[in-house]
Amino acid sequence: MDLSIDPKLEDFRADVRAFFANDFPKDILAKTRKGASLTTDEVRKSESALGKKGWLAAAWPKEHGGPGWSLEEQYIFDEELERAGVPTVTPMGVIYVGPIIYTFGTDKQKERWLPGIREGREGWCQGYSEPDSGSDLASLQFSAVRERDEYILNGTKIWTSAAQHADWIFCLARTDNSGKKQEGISFIIAEMNRPGITVTPIITIDGKHALNQVHFDNVRVPADYLIGEEGKGWTYSQYLLGHERTSYARIGGKRKQLRHLREIASHVPTGGNRRLIDEPDFARKLSDADLAVDALEMTVLRVLSAVKDGGAPGKEASIVKVLATSAAQQITTLYLDAAGLNGNRQFDDSVTPDWLSKDASANFAAPGLSLYYGTRAQSIYGGTNEIQRNIIAKRVLGL
Ligand SMILES: Cc1cc2nc3c(=O)[nH]c(=O)nc-3n(C[C@H](O)[C@H](O)[C@H](O)COP(=O)(O)OP(=O)(O)OC[C@H]3O[C@@H](n4cnc5c(N)ncnc54)[C@H](O)[C@@H]3O)c2cc1C
Repeated sequence: MDLSIDPKLEDFRADVRAFFANDFPKDILAKTRKGASLTTDEVRKSESALGKKGWLAAAWPKEHGGPGWSLEEQYIFDEELERAGVPTVTPMGVIYVGPIIYTFGTDKQKERWLPGIREGREGWCQGYSEPDSGSDLASLQFSAVRERDEYILNGTKIWTSAAQHADWIFCLARTDNSGKKQEGISFIIAEMNRPGITVTPIITIDGKHALNQVHFDNVRVPADYLIGEEGKGWTYSQYLLGHERTSYARIGGKRKQLRHLREIASHVPTGGNRRLIDEPDFARKLSDADLAVDALEMTVLRVLSAVKDGGAPGKEASIVKVLATSAAQQITTLYLDAAGLNGNRQFDDSVTPDWLSKDASANFAAPGLSLYYGTRAQSIYGGTNEIQRNIIAKRVLGL
């Protein structure tokens, strides 16, 4: 792949930019600019706006209803989406399970689920982790027992992001306990409103509700909610993780935060006529973060350009995940450096003013703190960074 962006693509960029400036719901953008959480209806509204335009499933091939964009077009689209401050697309439907369904699902399953995902009408969540199975995910004990034309699901999933907004959950479930632990796992879907499912919120350190525990008590789903073959769920789950880990790069968002930090730093006084941007230590950290994002961008482009048509990024996605996490943490730490004592402010959805404005006050402090906490969690989700380093050592470097 030619890493320099073709000037002809600038027309494409202008179209995308105009859509976000003129046609994307302004109330959603305004709420996101405040760093506030969206309700379920607002998530659907935001994602349907992209879905109606045919741009939600930005990386899907045309045959499955995607726009059929080249890698460069997808890249520009992501940059513009983040530049406009559009809420992060909930990845569980469009990035995680969609490609699994169109790759391994039956025609009936594709007809049933793909339109709702790509049009942003139906929300999804990911039921992988369990209270006793995280890094060692293959030890999971959530069970699916086949009874005639149904599966009966029992067990608890935890850390389930966006379960409170979801219509559907895709689960890794044990259908066989006799062989190697990876071999008895199946990939099964359930509606979130089935009798026997209980969602319990988990409130995180920033006071937000993004995580949940989802308990299943004899939940019955049709047997044709099984994706692919019984016992092959582990293979499908690994395919999904390649997409998931690459999606953490979010270059456009990082560059936007760096621009924002420069703006903030050119206003924050540090004594006399000096501003934070004049302080060598802060300026150096900002430049280091710029370089980290450049390195991440090159790496993600290399990983994506190695993907064969319609396939998934491979083990190298672990490198993207580690680099993306450390760049995100470097950047959000700078918000705390800039906030100083204001970093102690509590975040309050209702009163936070437009924190991306050029206002020299410390309005950025509370949402910046929330971002800081959020990026700490990135070392853990999608498989911890220690586990990614094990994968890089063993499977990428062959050590
Ligand atoms: C914000 C957030 C969102 C999440 N969203 C979801 C979701 O939507 N769906 C879902 O299914 N899960 C989700 N998770 C769960 C996440 O995938 C797990 O937390 C993660 O896989 C780690 O598992 P664990 O928490 O059980 O930690 P453990 O596996 O108990 O690990 C504890 C510590 O030990 C280290 N460790 C463990 N094994 C090794 C090893 N072999 N070598 C070196 N170090 C090791 C880990 O790196 C970690 O530091 C989310 C987590 C977070 C924080």
